[in-house]
Amino acid sequence: MSEQTIALVTGANKGIGYEIAAGLGALGLSVGVGARDEQRREDAVRKLRAAGVDAFGVPLDVTDDASVTAAARVIEERAGRLDVLVNNAGIAGVMPQDPTRVDPATIRTVVETNVIGVIRVTNAMLPLLRRSASPRIVNMSSSVGSLTRQAGTGAEQRTGPVAVAYAPSKTFLNAVTLQYVRELSGTNILINVGCPGYVATDLNGFHGVRTPEQGAAIAVELATLPDDGPNGKFFEDAGEVPW
Ligand code: NDP
Repeated sequence: MSEQTIALVTGANKGIGYEIAAGLGALGLSVGVGARDEQRREDAVRKLRAAGVDAFGVPLDVTDDASVTAAARVIEERAGRLDVLVNNAGIAGVMPQDPTRVDPATIRTVVETNVIGVIRVTNAMLPLLRRSASPRIVNMSSSVGSLTRQAGTGAEQRTGPVAVAYAPSKTFLNAVTLQYVRELSGTNILINVGCPGYVATDLNGFHGVRTPEQGAAIAVELATLPDDGPNGKFFEDAGEVPW
């Protein structure tokens, strides 16, 4: 079994996920580039390797059971275990998403990727994570999923546009994460939620104000926490985010 720390980042072919892979690779981890499109995946792996990262491609569509099962097999055959899982893949869904006019299909599609996709990947990877000495799971959420911030009272500010599919999908993901934390308490698995801030990527038509590298920093930190690090918390660069 490899001595090198093994990571899998979903949706790592571009945006924040690519930079998470680059950041983990720069720390010496071997990084599985989870991506559904073969060309985009190979391009990302090539670019990461050129930057000195020990990257390998993992075909992965988080909405597809067979693809996720096959991805776990790729990691198993390569390393026999998984140390770090970053559930980064996500979609915003068709906008605008005013609650009074939304097409329910938009909500289903966003939840399928942002919530059920995370559950599907996590459950497929858990047997491999359980073989790690220091397993870490990072779920990439958003402060727009914070109910405290959606309510926008007191010192907390409302963030993001009205988006009845995307924002609640991240609230759902946060709640799902806490259920994993409860079930896995007593194990050595640390599970935390990260918000990258408002990052210029395809997801928001490049309207964000931060770079993907800046957005990736919180995930890299949570993916490499020490054994006595936090568990079941929600962080952005500035500190803890209220649920
Ligand atoms: P991008 O659109 O740039 O990247 C999203 C990534 O997810 C792509 O690699 C995409 O692959 C992948 N993806 C989407 N659907 C699937 C799927 N079914 N299976 C596998 N991969 C999939 O977005 P960001 O980098 O901005 O977003 C990354 C994460 O950060 C998301 O979870 C997002 O919600 C979160 N986030 C982003 C913020 C921002 O301001 N950008 C703010 C807060 C949170 P493909 O190229 O094939 O489409």
